[in-house]
Amino acid sequence: MNRLAEIMAQNKDFVENKQYESMLTSKYPDKKLVIVTCMDTRLVELLPKALRIRNGDVKMIKTAGALIHHPYDSVMRSVIVAVTMLKAEEVLVIGHLDCGMAGLKGEQVVDRLKDRGVALEELNGQDVNNWLSGCEVIEQGVLNTVKLIKEHPLLPKDVKVHGLTIDPTTGQLALLYEDQ
Ligand SMILES: [Zn+2]
Repeated sequence: MNRLAEIMAQNKDFVENKQYESMLTSKYPDKKLVIVTCMDTRLVELLPKALRIRNGDVKMIKTAGALIHHPYDSVMRSVIVAVTMLKAEEVLVIGHLDCGMAGLKGEQVVDRLKDRGVALEELNGQDVNNWLSGCEVIEQGVLNTVKLIKEHPLLPKDVKVHGLTIDPTTGQLALLYEDQ
């Protein structure tokens, strides 16, 4: 069975057996939190469990490295929507140790793209290397993202923005910045 067929079959089983019933909730986050974190596979189950987060508790936004490079990208839009339309009041930016985005240079990604025959001329005039880059160290990446959110002209002043890292093995959090 291919991957998609397997997913479809498992989904049919999930719905028919009403496994959703224990997860019924609303679109408003009960803990009034937005979490911006990385797409890392090790965090899929670990992060919610390590923070005692259940379905309905938070708005979870995932992006490589938990990094926001541009103030008007889709991650920042999600944060703004969460704190205005969805009743969230605080933002946690949670990077993680051993993140693939730490030390990643856009040039490395571009080289792989070239190897796979991608025509990069299409992107003339755009700063592709910067757009594809990670950060030097994850702690600084988290702090830069916290600063970008906190200083965003569209962010209401009463929204708190905190910065943390999580260990992708143990789930242990480390606090980098607490917004008082
Ligand atoms: Zn990561």
